[in-house]
Amino acid sequence: MSTRPLYYFLGKCQKVRQEAPQAGEILIHYITMKQSILNPNNLQTFAKEHKLQPFRVKQIIQEIYDNQNIRFEDMTTLSKDLRQQLDENFEILSIIPETILESEDNIKIGFKTHDNFTIEAVILFHRSKHEKESIKSKVHKVESQNKGPDDLTTLGPDRPLNRITLCVSSQIGCPVNCVFCVTGKLGIKRDLTRNEIISQLLFANNFIKTKFGKKDDQTLRAVRNVVFMGMGEPLINYQNVKKSIEIMIAQAGGFSLGKRHITISTAGIIPGIEQLIKDDIPVKLAISLHAPNQKLREELMPIAKVYTLDKLMKTIDDYVKVSDNRIFYEYIMIKNKTDKPELATQLADLLHGRLAHVNLIPYNMNPAIKLEESDERTIRAFKDILEKKGITVTIRDSLGRDLKSACGQLGYEKIANRHCEE
Ligand code: SF4
Repeated sequence: MSTRPLYYFLGKCQKVRQEAPQAGEILIHYITMKQSILNPNNLQTFAKEHKLQPFRVKQIIQEIYDNQNIRFEDMTTLSKDLRQQLDENFEILSIIPETILESEDNIKIGFKTHDNFTIEAVILFHRSKHEKESIKSKVHKVESQNKGPDDLTTLGPDRPLNRITLCVSSQIGCPVNCVFCVTGKLGIKRDLTRNEIISQLLFANNFIKTKFGKKDDQTLRAVRNVVFMGMGEPLINYQNVKKSIEIMIAQAGGFSLGKRHITISTAGIIPGIEQLIKDDIPVKLAISLHAPNQKLREELMPIAKVYTLDKLMKTIDDYVKVSDNRIFYEYIMIKNKTDKPELATQLADLLHGRLAHVNLIPYNMNPAIKLEESDERTIRAFKDILEKKGITVTIRDSLGRDLKSACGQLGYEKIANRHCEE
């Protein structure tokens, strides 16, 4: 087994350096060729060979999913010998945590795959307004004591959280190539496996445990919501996404997440939505709509030429009929492109009578794409038009903007660097 440190790359030119995150954390990691313990068959074979009792196998699984451990040496309910044997035979994570970038509201994690690609996941911390207020006053207090800025940016157990969401990637890059999305500019390398998707969640839970410790009631904080909104189009990688969801919702040998705490965000892959109906997977569905008519949608999302708006809306209606789930429509606010008042009226007409909620997402600017974000007044006016027509609307809090981990920005550094070198 060899070890080698990997370093976060900030880019060479000044333009990129201004935009890119200013701090990175170096992680030492291990590159292994061991088999994955996440495949139940591997663990069963090992148990047979080593004459392990079923309760021992159960303990190992609990150490991973319930106790949120990603190193065998930390599994203190197991004997030292067993921990050593497991360590010699298995890996837990199928991807290697490489970089961690933190801000107050989110943490972006860069992982390396075994075939040397980079993917990203983002932990999002949600707090109530009241808690945000208390943080502000705390920051003020620390400033007045002349402590350094580092004291202001670290989350701690004294700052209670409402909930923790993990935004996971489902592919390396994305084949859909929406014009406003940085990930789309990467192209597609390959689908992520079930274990690679699950590993993002395992690492996030371990990170949260290490960072916050136990709660007062001695339970552990953990990710409670998973959104497939990272790199990739989840419904193109349907089978692996489905298998990962099975583990997310499993009570034993899984994360015990509620089905309604998992959201699949899709650009509108009709066969994938139809398959969700057939397989009876009642997770939440978010549709990246981004335009209320076929012409504009085709301009922004080439996939709309294949899966037209009419057919998409009909398929969504079928999904709502069987799941009775409200659909979240993602709508990006791009200056002079998607933010015109007449488009708000069209959007309201399109969603009239449908079980719908609209998320308006302020466009996140980046140097590789020549689009601009809408101003706040325009976004509010757009929202007002929708609300007056009876549509419920949220303006998405652009959590993650500072770390380039907000919507459409995963893979930012790769693209920004490429753009800079051109
Ligand atoms: S917005 Fe989603 S579907 Fe479109 S290119 Fe980006 S990652 Fe792919």
